[in-house]
Amino acid sequence: MKNRTYIKDLKEHVGKEATIAGFVDVRRDHGKLIFIDLRDMSGKVQMVALPNHKEAHELAATIRPEWVIAVTGKVNKRPEKMVNKDEPNGEIEIEITNIVVINKADTPPLDVRSEGKEIGEETRLKYRYLDLRRPRMQGNLALRHRFIKTLRDFLDAEGFLEIETPILTKSTPEGARDFIVPARLDKGKFYALPQSPQQYKQLLMIAGIEKYFQIARCFRDEDTRGDRQPEFTQLDLEMAYVERDDVIAFIERTLIHLVQKVTPEKKIQEIPFPRLSYAEAMEKYKSDKPDLRKDKSDPNLLAFCWVVDFPFFEKTDDGKWTFTHNPFSSPKPEHREFLLKGEQISDILTTQYDIALNGFEIGGGSIRGNNPETIEAVFRVMGYPTEDIKKNFGHMLEAYRYGAPEHGGIAWGLDRIIAILQNEPNIREVIAFAKTGEGKDLMMDAPSLARAEQLKELGLKIEKII
Ligand code: ASP
Repeated sequence: MKNRTYIKDLKEHVGKEATIAGFVDVRRDHGKLIFIDLRDMSGKVQMVALPNHKEAHELAATIRPEWVIAVTGKVNKRPEKMVNKDEPNGEIEIEITNIVVINKADTPPLDVRSEGKEIGEETRLKYRYLDLRRPRMQGNLALRHRFIKTLRDFLDAEGFLEIETPILTKSTPEGARDFIVPARLDKGKFYALPQSPQQYKQLLMIAGIEKYFQIARCFRDEDTRGDRQPEFTQLDLEMAYVERDDVIAFIERTLIHLVQKVTPEKKIQEIPFPRLSYAEAMEKYKSDKPDLRKDKSDPNLLAFCWVVDFPFFEKTDDGKWTFTHNPFSSPKPEHREFLLKGEQISDILTTQYDIALNGFEIGGGSIRGNNPETIEAVFRVMGYPTEDIKKNFGHMLEAYRYGAPEHGGIAWGLDRIIAILQNEPNIREVIAFAKTGEGKDLMMDAPSLARAEQLKELGLKIEKII
């Protein structure tokens, strides 16, 4: 649009004419005076149509909330007694001289001006494009953008490379079920969507990329459990030539920078972040993600803490050993021999470090087993036959034969961190197009049935739909 002014900049145009465009927020018709509040992505302003601009005044009388209009008018300073100190544009008002209706709008099925907390979530997710119009959701998306931008800039300045890794890939054990995608060109075979870029980031270390990160989408097919999404966003990061305390110190520095830059109103309770062993955390707080806030009523208090020294393995229900966090982790150096010999399994501690914030786990990582023997030993403890290890992880075992620096990294649940910083109760509030707890996209109506010819091309048959 030619010469459009953003609403936030109108104050610079006092006494002059300006053209703005946006959604009609409200209209108050007082007969002679018709007030319309207009909303664009930068803010909101009150406008008034007066009878002396006849055409605009007549049109203003027909306008309804959520219509999209462009308005030209004079930016006037409001008289002293009309100033609204609570509104960013409370000192000005637009005297409408011309209105162009860009699009009319049906009455929205939900109120887009309220906080939205009174509206059923199914309605909000079905009409997400309307739900996102509300200022709270616009604020959440803006904060998410600023957080990720600040993070990218920080990591760039620290010498990290952002590298994309495949979405169509092979199963990687991250403790959840894989989403799988049938391969048309190789019928009967399937890709798996990544539960995390774990193996790729380790392979990047072998490739000589010493500092990697990615704002990575991860996919985990889990049963409905609390506030989870089948796809979510991680900061995924890996560094070469580091030990556990190097990663911990670097991540702490990164988080402090982010809080100071993005949400300066927040206060970090304790720096350096307190560090607890898993045993201590469980004994003292009965939780491996304790909430250490001294004042839980303060919405601006952030209590980060590290939890370390987790057992590497735990028993499954059928009596086998499985990893607690990540099969590619290295045990603590003093327990390496136990692992290689397959002895004292329950005593082996991993180099894993988890980070919690206000009682939520916001991230975790480890130093990796950077040689084939360590990786193989982990799968052997879990009872994998040698052929299975070769079949599933042969590429990793081979890669580690060509020389690998020591390396380690972390992944953060970005949705969760952003939700906490925004004092939002769940991650769906900071994900533009979230799914329901059952993994449904109500707006797009996904998942949906595949067409018969799609199934045929893939060589698939649906046996029975329950
Ligand atoms: N891949 C791990 C996860 O997604 C994080 C890591 O060890 O870097 O939880």
